[in-house]
Amino acid sequence: MTTLINDPRVGAVPVPPTSAVGPLRTVHPAAIAANVRRVTVRGHDLIAVVKADGYGHGAATVATTALAAGATALGTATLPEALALRAAGIDARVLCWLHLPGADFTTAARERVEVAVGDRATLVAVAEAGRRSGTAVVVHLHVDTGMAREGAEPHRWQALLDAAGAAERAGYVVVRAVMGHVPNADRASASRAATLLRLAGLAADLTLGHPVELHLGGTPAAFAGADLTGIAVRVGAALVGIGPGHAGLVAAMTVTAPVVAVRSVRAGTPVGYDGTWTAPRDAVLAVLPVGYADGVPRAASGSAQVRLRGHLVPVVGRINMDQVVLDVTGVPGPEVVRGEVVTLLGAPGPTAADWATWADTNAHEIITGLGGRIERAVDTTTSRSSA
Ligand SMILES: *Cc1c(COP(=O)(O)O)cnc(C)c1O
Repeated sequence: MTTLINDPRVGAVPVPPTSAVGPLRTVHPAAIAANVRRVTVRGHDLIAVVKADGYGHGAATVATTALAAGATALGTATLPEALALRAAGIDARVLCWLHLPGADFTTAARERVEVAVGDRATLVAVAEAGRRSGTAVVVHLHVDTGMAREGAEPHRWQALLDAAGAAERAGYVVVRAVMGHVPNADRASASRAATLLRLAGLAADLTLGHPVELHLGGTPAAFAGADLTGIAVRVGAALVGIGPGHAGLVAAMTVTAPVVAVRSVRAGTPVGYDGTWTAPRDAVLAVLPVGYADGVPRAASGSAQVRLRGHLVPVVGRINMDQVVLDVTGVPGPEVVRGEVVTLLGAPGPTAADWATWADTNAHEIITGLGGRIERAVDTTTSRSSA
């Protein structure tokens, strides 16, 4: 239905029907489930990593989908992220590894959140929480397999094992696993980390007097082709479709936004801040209500493209805080109208990898950066499950 604005300065202006839906991230659980099967088909137990709000896809959505598809446990960076899963009613095993100063391990004990420990000070704090709460905290001892991050350096490993053994005998902790992380995507790097992990695990078995599980992260490690027999993988990126091309992963998010304005301009018209793009001919421009405050990277200005009616159209001029301008000149069909929906991310492209190339970053930063005014919805159809 067409309505009329009656403004004495401009006369009666026809206004086409508008979409009430604003910028939207639609998450596809069926794609996440398919990606989980891509990982577990290799025979590994999977700790599904849902940090950073499930890489922007919604931690609870990714977690429940991954568990239903065969993941054995969940992983988060921080304890608050793990507790948010509990608050969402998720009862599965959860491990967290990045501890903020003063982290409340007593709450971890009470909520049965498992805790990675890579140094003596953290072990002491965790054991103290186990003692106070009367509940042994399940710990995963983290050994440095090449990251120089939160894992224990090899020369401190035995001392950490000895301390963990003492805390375990006192009933304050239960050591469940030894974990490592792979710094590079190549097979040699993953093999080297697996070897270091197995050695650290053997030392743990001997010191503690019982076997421990082994696990290694992240997505590159899982697909590097190294022999990971007997080693579980901690994977996050792959769950939402980010990984090496040969892995056959499916993107789990579509991002759309409605056109909010359309105008025709003369050749030579500069567009936006600093006029970094000037219409090379008479042009039709369309405006989308998303910008870098919503995670559309400003660095992609000048190279980004989006999809309108199945056609790629260029983003022109600077990507602004709240909006971007498209050159929709020559798009087939009737005139582009306000409310028409444009795809910024989603099959058959642009992909997160495309945006990463345009913005000189990685696909992870693109998907975790999306947010702001882009609302999130869950796609309840299953049409992508076979993709
Ligand atoms: C982020 C992270 C993972 C998951 O890595 P992906 O490459 O996203 O699969 C696993 N382990 C640790 C310690 C991490 O920080």
